Amino acid sequence: MLLYNTLTKKREEFVPITPGKVSIYVCGPTVYDFIHIGNARPMIVFDTLRRYLEHKGYEVNYVSNFTDVDDKIIKKSIEEGISAQEVSERYIRECRQDMEHMNVRPATTHPRATQEIDGMIDMIESLIEKGFAYEKNGTVYFSTRKDKEYGKLSHKNLDDLRSGGRDLLVTGEDEKEDPLDFVLWKPKKEGEPFWKSPWSDGRPGWHIECSVMSRKYLGDTIDIHAGGEDLIFPHHENEIAQSECCNGVPFAHYWLHNAFLNIDNHKMSKSLGNFFTVREIEQHYDLQVLRLFMLSAHYRSPLNFSDRLMESAKSSLERIRNAVDNLNFRIENANAEAMSADEKEKVRELAAFTQRFDDAMEDDINTADALSVVFDLVRFANSDVKEDSSKEFCAAVKEEILLLGDLLGMQFERKEEVLDLRIEDLIKERQAARKAKNFARADEIRDELAGMGITLLDTREGVKWKRN
Ligand code: AMP
Ligand code: ZN
Repeated sequence: MLLYNTLTKKREEFVPITPGKVSIYVCGPTVYDFIHIGNARPMIVFDTLRRYLEHKGYEVNYVSNFTDVDDKIIKKSIEEGISAQEVSERYIRECRQDMEHMNVRPATTHPRATQEIDGMIDMIESLIEKGFAYEKNGTVYFSTRKDKEYGKLSHKNLDDLRSGGRDLLVTGEDEKEDPLDFVLWKPKKEGEPFWKSPWSDGRPGWHIECSVMSRKYLGDTIDIHAGGEDLIFPHHENEIAQSECCNGVPFAHYWLHNAFLNIDNHKMSKSLGNFFTVREIEQHYDLQVLRLFMLSAHYRSPLNFSDRLMESAKSSLERIRNAVDNLNFRIENANAEAMSADEKEKVRELAAFTQRFDDAMEDDINTADALSVVFDLVRFANSDVKEDSSKEFCAAVKEEILLLGDLLGMQFERKEEVLDLRIEDLIKERQAARKAKNFARADEIRDELAGMGITLLDTREGVKWKRN
């Protein structure tokens, strides 16, 4: 499998450290609010990578953290008059619910920063001992000059960064020896949550969290480290500096970064108001539509969120699900059980769909191409499954559609209750059409329902329906 590695700026053949096993760390959200659809992009993309690797037979250890101590969490806790822990626990719960509804599987481990403080203190101590960090008035800084490889991930020219360094000076951090030095530990301010440490009562910097949690759950060197492209600098650059200076071995072999999700061609931002949470989208769409929309672009291409694209994802999903409904109907109503000789010939073509799907995924997770294979397969189903098709043939086609769907984390079979709602909607629409004397539409809906295996019954209490 080829993966584009930000570290080498090349597409490289993926070779895991241990044959048959893959370790992945994905930087997770800061939990001070509902996650937005931008946060959903790395979740969906790297969950899809995980599913594909598992399908290839790898045992995947997938770790994704929750950053549950941070200025934004503290600000929210003050605004709402509750503790920082209550804020983060609430939004971890909400995030897990959003993940579940997007069919993003829970990580093998979801560590929380506040539960790993001892490990962070250990790593900071060893960085000080090794001469890579220094303390000033209770704050500990990482000394970037000591790391000869600093800048290797973001491919930045450090001298330019240093000369423009004023921007990097943050209030309260002006004691640092170099503008690129960054905080490992900082003293608490009044009212903030804190932990005891050899330097001050305080809390860790953001970057040290991931270095420590990745090492604890996956080891000194891991296969894949991933996140959104905004994290390349400084977050991931700093993680590499900390981990490699402390552990003396490479931190991660492959660095994967997804491009940003924009809204109506603008950067998503709370201040511009062009900002949607996953929860808001869920009020209008099945989140499978959101997942399909995300996978319709390559993860390294910027993706623009718009009503038009969501509507198009919605009708694509409908098309696939209608094909599966149709197959279900044929499976239930087929006259012949076993495949005919012709069908046996045809069914061999299914393997070619799997092959093309795999080829797309092997090409740096090209989910856009993988989806076009699914659409071709749906076309195959719609044209090659006929009234006289055998049960066995229909089942094989259906199984292929569901298999590819599963690899993408897509549920292509309507859940019964969702199906029921759709049937009710169609019946309502048919009654309205009849009232408006639009008999053509009414007949069309009756035929569509018949295609789904639904019989309508006119009763005294109104129209009832049953599955054939
Ligand atoms: P944060 O909570 O800001 O640390 O973000 C959690 C994850 O979401 C990180 O991997 C970010 O890179 C990613 N992310 C944030 N905003 C976007 C966006 N608009 N598009 C894609 N990824 C994003
Ligand atoms: Zn991180």
